[in-house]
Amino acid sequence: MHLHWHRRDLRVSDNHGLVTAADAGDVVPVFVFDDDVLAHAGAARVRFMLDALARLRETYRERDSDLVVVRGDPTEELPRLAAEYDADGVVWNKDYSRLARTRDEAVRRALDEAGVAHDAVHDAIHHEPGSITTNAGDPYSVYTYFWKKWRNRNKADPFSPPEADSLADVSGADLPTIEELGFSDPDATIQEAGTEAARERLAAFCEDAIYRYATDRDYPERNATSRLSADLKWGTIGIREVYAATEEAAENADSDDEAKSVEEFQSQLAWREFYTHVLYFNPDVVTQNYKEYENDIAWREDEEALTAWKEGRTGYPIVDAGMRQLREEAYMHNRMRMIVASFLTKDLLIDWREGYAHFRAYLADHDTANDNGGWQWAASTGTDAQPYFRIFNPMTQGERYDPDATYIQQYVPELRDATADEIHDWPNLSPTERETVAPEYPDPIVEHSKRRDQAISMFEAARGDD
Ligand code: FAD
Repeated sequence: MHLHWHRRDLRVSDNHGLVTAADAGDVVPVFVFDDDVLAHAGAARVRFMLDALARLRETYRERDSDLVVVRGDPTEELPRLAAEYDADGVVWNKDYSRLARTRDEAVRRALDEAGVAHDAVHDAIHHEPGSITTNAGDPYSVYTYFWKKWRNRNKADPFSPPEADSLADVSGADLPTIEELGFSDPDATIQEAGTEAARERLAAFCEDAIYRYATDRDYPERNATSRLSADLKWGTIGIREVYAATEEAAENADSDDEAKSVEEFQSQLAWREFYTHVLYFNPDVVTQNYKEYENDIAWREDEEALTAWKEGRTGYPIVDAGMRQLREEAYMHNRMRMIVASFLTKDLLIDWREGYAHFRAYLADHDTANDNGGWQWAASTGTDAQPYFRIFNPMTQGERYDPDATYIQQYVPELRDATADEIHDWPNLSPTERETVAPEYPDPIVEHSKRRDQAISMFEAARGDD
């Protein structure tokens, strides 16, 4: 008998750890609600996790087994459960953040003391940290080189689910409610969780949008991305299964452009792996700049502007639409994440850590590696970061990626009677024009051109330029 400890792998199919446990004998699937992990969570993420756990439990029950759920410290709960089920060992899939690695090391020690075997296997990404390095053996800090090696490496096939008769005949307690975990149900509408929903998203994407991903992914109203981020974060679908579906899509491509578009999507999966490697080798990036400047960056403290940004009331329509999408859906389109992050750091001159904390609290797909990578990129402090002098103009970004202002008007109802031109030019309209066009919508809280110059000076001072 072995325990499989589910963490960010809330699925039965394509699960390396679960298959490893099943190969060793009967499996008792367990999940531990760990208060140390919950302390860093947001309500949307917890809602998605609980829904995914409910689906996982149904899958086990259909196979005459169950998910055993407990709440507590895994260093105490896992040895206790191993004794209760007379298990010889505990298996789990590796996780790569410092918090997870420290916890896993403590669990290993506790199991050693209890005389219970343990095995942690590689599952969440195709290529484990340390397996793709420069020729000198160092981890990459530049994505392009990483991608070339990543693309050419063989990828494992999906793991089959374990045979139903290898799952132990157990019954688990009820899942806690979100309130029992210390959260209120989020206001946001969260997308459906679980393997079935993830597979539906993947199949729909591979039928159509994957072939126009390269040209359409930056335009939010074109619905050209997979929406798999929360599934990949929680592992409701395995990365090998996702990749295999994209390979099949590539085979079915009708043109070179379509095949290239599939590869463009695969390169986003590689970004996820790149940032996971960056986090693994640089665990301090969660709180520290990856890129060192000569002097500290003199970020501004501005509570009022930060609150306006969080609430989507900056008077920059594309920024406000993104921030409101986050509140409404616990999700934001990638191009909007880039725009709002640039606005916080380069227009409001506020520290990226404030933005990261807000995203962590509100995103259902918050992933330490990707969220941090995205923020440090926008703040010009990360690995392949945006150069500090290349600053997004939020008006031009809106015009380019939401030309008809459809996305903006969806999330900012105050602007529904305005024309696209009026919306994109909002900060340049006179106060009287603004009052006539959309009296409820706020005036711009900063002047972009001035803040752009200030941002460049702020970075030049950090660089120690004269
Ligand atoms: P798709 O375009 O369909 O991409 C497929 C998958 O590839 C995504 O689900 C994701 O797992 C991965 N991916 C795509 N783009 C990136 C990227 N730039 N970096 C790393 N992985 C990527 N992604 C998260 O998963 N969690 C986060 O917390 C997160 N925070 C971000 C914060 C900022 C400031 C920025 C700029 C980006 C962030 N991203 C994050 C990356 C990206 O915005 C999301 O992965 C994407 O918008 C999710 O939508 P999708 O699943 O439809 O993406």
